[in-house]
Amino acid sequence: MAGITIPPEILATMPARFGIRSPQLGGPTANSTQFWTLLVQRGVVPRTSGAAAHDPLANLSGVWPVDGPITSMFGPRSLLPGEKFHTGIDIGVPERTPVRATASGIVRFVGNTDGYGLRVEIDHGNGVTTLYAHLSEANVVPGQRVERGQPIGKSGNTGASTGPHLHYEIRQNGRPIDPWPFLQASGSGAYSAQNVLRLPFGDLIVATAQRYGLDPALLAAIVKAESGFDSRAVSSAGAKGLMQLMDGTAAALGVRDPFDPVQNLDGGARYFRDLLHRFSGDVRLALAAYNAGPNAVREAGGVPPYAETQRFVEAVMATWQMLSRAS
Ligand SMILES: [Zn+2]
Repeated sequence: MAGITIPPEILATMPARFGIRSPQLGGPTANSTQFWTLLVQRGVVPRTSGAAAHDPLANLSGVWPVDGPITSMFGPRSLLPGEKFHTGIDIGVPERTPVRATASGIVRFVGNTDGYGLRVEIDHGNGVTTLYAHLSEANVVPGQRVERGQPIGKSGNTGASTGPHLHYEIRQNGRPIDPWPFLQASGSGAYSAQNVLRLPFGDLIVATAQRYGLDPALLAAIVKAESGFDSRAVSSAGAKGLMQLMDGTAAALGVRDPFDPVQNLDGGARYFRDLLHRFSGDVRLALAAYNAGPNAVREAGGVPPYAETQRFVEAVMATWQMLSRAS
């Protein structure tokens, strides 16, 4: 037998949201397993494609400072008070996770002077520096040479931080640039697609996520929290299918049959992608908007204070993080 199993952590935490009935895993699991087996037999199991490193800062590609889901992208962040532009990428990890230097260089700064909390800055030459912020501990000193991949400290929640995460920044001649292309080229997300393919509808989730430029593990985490991978799920509020589309939303998205996994995933993924853009790549806000509506997020200026929405956001983030790890 192919021996494909759903991680027990996933089976153990099926959704209670909106009174969705217990998911029937038989059908979809069987289909997904057959598909996976077919891929294995034919030798075409997708390994994540190493996207071509097309950047001039190639030394920075190949290493993630920590392994975890990206919780906030680089760019404008109009919603959060006091911060107009997010100068780095946030990666969600528990406190005291070891943080690695993403390239070799000389430590230029270790200290705690502002909203960054405890931070380490490394000079990689040619005007390129990296910065690791909100640390709980630093294990290097200024002037020290560090190698690519070397642990430099532990992640934390110091400074202006709303939860444990690493803020990772790349600067070129003092100006922050988007770290995403470098992370993409190295792919800690490498495990995402492999893990998702083992889930019910995994093949479909991966294909749909790729179509809309989403991390498959994030899309799978949403599906799990929404429907527990049950394409027939109906909530007491009338939300339907894998991504729990309300009739109005489904109609607006051109989804004719919300119980059709292909249509439901396509519409839901497209909607989430739009929310992600609308909220400047902030995954937590986009998730809150998916659950409570974009207006509620705008009015609250963040994740709205609804217990159900907050539970949803945390559940998705936890599953996403789990699916992003090597299995
Ligand atoms: Zn940040």
